[in-house]
Amino acid sequence: MSMNDAVIIGAGPAGLVCAMHLAKAGLTAKVLETEAEIPKTLRGSTFHPSSLDLLESAFGAAKPLIDQGLVAPTVQYRRHGEGKIAEFDFADIKDLTDHPYRLQAEQYKLCYILRDLLDAHPNVEIVYNATATAVRQDAGSATVVINDGEAEYTGAYVVGADGANSIVRRTLDIPFDGFTWAERFLVTSTPFDFTGVFPDLSSVSYVADPEEWYFLLQIPDGLWRVMFPTRADEDDDDILSDARVQARLARVHDKGSPYEVVHKTLYNVHQRVADTYRVGRMILTGDAAHINNPLGGMGMNGGIHDSFNLAEKLVPVLKGEASPDLLDRYSEERHGVAMEYVQKFSIQNKKDLEAATAADRDGFETRLHEAANDLAARRQLLLRLSMWSSLGKTA
Ligand SMILES: Cc1cc2nc3c(=O)[nH]c(=O)nc-3n(C[C@H](O)[C@H](O)[C@H](O)COP(=O)(O)OP(=O)(O)OC[C@H]3O[C@@H](n4cnc5c(N)ncnc54)[C@H](O)[C@@H]3O)c2cc1C
Repeated sequence: MSMNDAVIIGAGPAGLVCAMHLAKAGLTAKVLETEAEIPKTLRGSTFHPSSLDLLESAFGAAKPLIDQGLVAPTVQYRRHGEGKIAEFDFADIKDLTDHPYRLQAEQYKLCYILRDLLDAHPNVEIVYNATATAVRQDAGSATVVINDGEAEYTGAYVVGADGANSIVRRTLDIPFDGFTWAERFLVTSTPFDFTGVFPDLSSVSYVADPEEWYFLLQIPDGLWRVMFPTRADEDDDDILSDARVQARLARVHDKGSPYEVVHKTLYNVHQRVADTYRVGRMILTGDAAHINNPLGGMGMNGGIHDSFNLAEKLVPVLKGEASPDLLDRYSEERHGVAMEYVQKFSIQNKKDLEAATAADRDGFETRLHEAANDLAARRQLLLRLSMWSSLGKTA
């Protein structure tokens, strides 16, 4: 059994970004992935300007992603039945980013690009059909057991990029405090073009409504994603029944005939953050460390940012150029961002969209109007939406 610099569990966005950094630094790593190939699940579909800038400057990975995606220059907030409240154009921060837009592209497309880039680096290998079933560490190394003892991989560090159910986090007994929303979220995809009926609609539009908010997201391949909250007392089969899905879509716009629905998923939504992202030679990144609701598209983007921050510290530690204590700074910095930025704003986004009292609705709309009418305020808001401010950048 040879010793690697690192063993990364999980070939999702967070794991592969970390792997690419190690590959480029000439370090050795194994990426262990439970599936037979990179999972092609329909999950994250929004890349923020901050992530695109990082991915392009480090790996040249944004350009091929943009070629496969859909550029959304504006973000819009609307009120159901009334129309647009305010719209924000990323052109207002074009002096700060090379990518003044949100890119709509499924997250597996980034994973495929990173997997292909890794081909040029034989020092890092992705091992498929490799489920981490146990992890352990001692003073000099950390080890991952796969498939209940079929093989073991040892490294100076283990990076747990193994998603929300992380075996690394569970084995280390790291508290994952927070809460799960009572209501689940329903995501549907349809080829119906909503701009035909709402001509001023942006590709990214959040629609507030105290009864049932929703968001409309144009994604590549001629599809729109529509996401709704469901009621806590609704039954799964009922939510996913054709009749209920059609009723929800008809409430967005009653087109007089059934919608073509090409995909629907119902899922639980959590707000949780690991107490620490590092215990000795084991480090968490991405969903293994934090999960949040999808309003604002901060989950995957936050995981990408984690892995950039981690690599900036792990590479010099592995090369013997920095003390391992530097890794605690990674944990502190990114834990702070998860708590003070991602959790705070993803919860606020949900509260704003569902605001039921006149005071809360007016407060939300007043904040949007004030931001829309003042360039400095607009730039602040766009920096927050594009997750630049979570990286400590200011206008
Ligand atoms: C419907 C939906 C929409 C979303 N939209 C957005 C969005 O627009 N923008 C955004 O930023 N985020 C979004 N998210 C969140 C985003 O999908 C996640 O935050 C992101 O996938 C986290 O990346 P990750 O690499 O940390 O984990 P994952 O993507 O979960 O990757 C973990 C990998 O580890 C593998 N794995 C797990 N356990 C093991 C094991 N024991 N051994 C080996 N391998 C293992 C898994 O197979 C997987 O490949 C959305 C999520 C959902 C559900």
